Amino acid sequence: MSPFALGGARARVPAKINLHLGVGPLRDDGYHELSTVFCAISLFDEVTVRSADHLRITVNGDSARQVPADPTNLAAQAVMLVAEYLERQDANAEIEIDKQIPVAGGMAGGSADAAGGLLAASRLWRGDLSRDELLSLAAALGSDVPFSVLGGTALGTGRGEKLLPVLNRCELSWVIAVAKTGLSTPDVYRELDRLRAERDEIVPPPGRPDALLRALAAGDVTALAPLLHNDLQPAALSLQPMLRRTLRAGTEAGALAGIVSGSGPSCVFLCADPDAAVSVAAELSGSGVARSVKTAFGPVAGARLVTP
Ligand code: ATP
Repeated sequence: MSPFALGGARARVPAKINLHLGVGPLRDDGYHELSTVFCAISLFDEVTVRSADHLRITVNGDSARQVPADPTNLAAQAVMLVAEYLERQDANAEIEIDKQIPVAGGMAGGSADAAGGLLAASRLWRGDLSRDELLSLAAALGSDVPFSVLGGTALGTGRGEKLLPVLNRCELSWVIAVAKTGLSTPDVYRELDRLRAERDEIVPPPGRPDALLRALAAGDVTALAPLLHNDLQPAALSLQPMLRRTLRAGTEAGALAGIVSGSGPSCVFLCADPDAAVSVAAELSGSGVARSVKTAFGPVAGARLVTP
């Protein structure tokens, strides 16, 4: 049944890939200074919010059991924040999440659900918040949430929450290898700090990836491929050494390049075109290195209300 028939609203929100993730030194507030290029891809979660007499959360999908169905769920946090912002007496709502984005996979699945919760609750309660209002609530919920609202391709600085849209003329075809077990983002950052300390590394502030931005603006996928970069990759590989095999399998199958996505452990492979992506995905599926293999394209728009 349409959620609208029940006085509800539904938002569709994409996963993200970091085409570049530069991680600077640890800041006094416990975060790292980032310079990152986000790209939203066609792998979506849907968040439906309906009127109810108390807060209730259900999660559907293969990995639903890994997601908390309680007020710590990021979509629930978002709905409660909208209620507070609109000065409602209560945040009673039924929240239903249909998950396609891998959980703890470095693809901002929880952030996507938070963005979906913001947008759907804003519509349900007729708040119809502006994009700036949504972005400012999003930044309070997490570093990646503003990008889940915005989508497309964007340069992120600060904790990743300060966004500047980027000109991207590339149509990017991706293969995503979802790992058998997840990785916790804070654990990966801690491992990066440990590896850097071990090498007595002086960490400079992260620079802007100008060559990558030029390749995007030029629509040059071949030039882009070798410029994909992730400072968190050594830390993710240190915690899950078998990801090296996954990365090798993808490039041997014909991908132009492969990197760990964000804090991992999902690995993403850039392919020359959609046909190449299907062939790389088929070979990776057969190699047994991943729990599941998906194809996607990007960039796509950020959080959107789904109309009947
Ligand atoms: P990021 O790429 O933003 O670092 P991630 O994609 O690696 O994050 P998430 O899928 O966002 O990781 O999940 C991180 C943790 O957040 C999960 O282990 C889960 O316990 C918790 N969590 C809370 N709400 C949600 C949600 N709606 N969806 C997924 N995870 C959630």
